[in-house]
Amino acid sequence: MSRRLVLYASTEQEDADGATASLLKPDMAAPRTVRGWWNDSAPYSGGALPVPGSVSGASAFQALRLVQQQHPEADVQLRFGPRAAWQATEEPVPAGRPDILPDVKRLITGLSPGCSFCGTTRRSLEVAHIRDWPETRAAVAAHPIRKGRHLRARLLFHSPWNLLMLCRDRAHGSGCHDRQEAKLITAAELREARARLDRQPHARAHYQRYLDQQLLACAPLAGVDENALLEVLRLLNRLAADAGEAPEPYALNHGQIRVDIAHAMIDYGSSHYCADNLAQVSL
Ligand SMILES: [Zn+2]
Repeated sequence: MSRRLVLYASTEQEDADGATASLLKPDMAAPRTVRGWWNDSAPYSGGALPVPGSVSGASAFQALRLVQQQHPEADVQLRFGPRAAWQATEEPVPAGRPDILPDVKRLITGLSPGCSFCGTTRRSLEVAHIRDWPETRAAVAAHPIRKGRHLRARLLFHSPWNLLMLCRDRAHGSGCHDRQEAKLITAAELREARARLDRQPHARAHYQRYLDQQLLACAPLAGVDENALLEVLRLLNRLAADAGEAPEPYALNHGQIRVDIAHAMIDYGSSHYCADNLAQVSL
């Protein structure tokens, strides 16, 4: 695995604030000092970084390119703000597999009454993941934002497009889920099978129900997946256009939420906490 070099570009004030410094909306005009950490654990060694003592926010990106040129072997990352504040936001990558959310499970079982790969209904069927849990954990661990890792891992793992139904035949190892585990079916083949589910005529009704359920379930800590919702909205918009239809806008939750599929828009009105909740879980 390549080494990682994390550059922190912080202002004097941010350094003074330390762990309590805000990492939101960094002042791009303020002079910043760039400090490096190997693998985010040991201070940069090997002489001075090839950057001036003090840079502005914009030239921090030039500094990043200079360091990348000097260390082509390393994965160099740039962060604005002091390391102490970044460390304070760190959350360990979850160890255990998260449980699937009932709404997502209902969507997938509705989209695929048989095995999504071979079509059979004669074997037992299981919800299967295209990207498995260890791969998901690795992706979350490599993501530069370390806040909200539990939520990030859960939403990435249980994204509707990471899931499909596969048949199981443990006795003979001949089910599609057995063959996936034996690496006889590739991720690319599974992604193609998953994409086919979205092209079925009845897909629209299942996604519509999922969208409304998710919007209504939007409560503090519920962890609604903003990316998935927007993707569902775009998909419904496309399917309606393909069918030559322009669905009328409708309201949910006593008019607080307005959904306009024809224009791919969701308006939360005064229900701001809902929108804030959505915004914090972007992957
Ligand atoms: Zn199958």
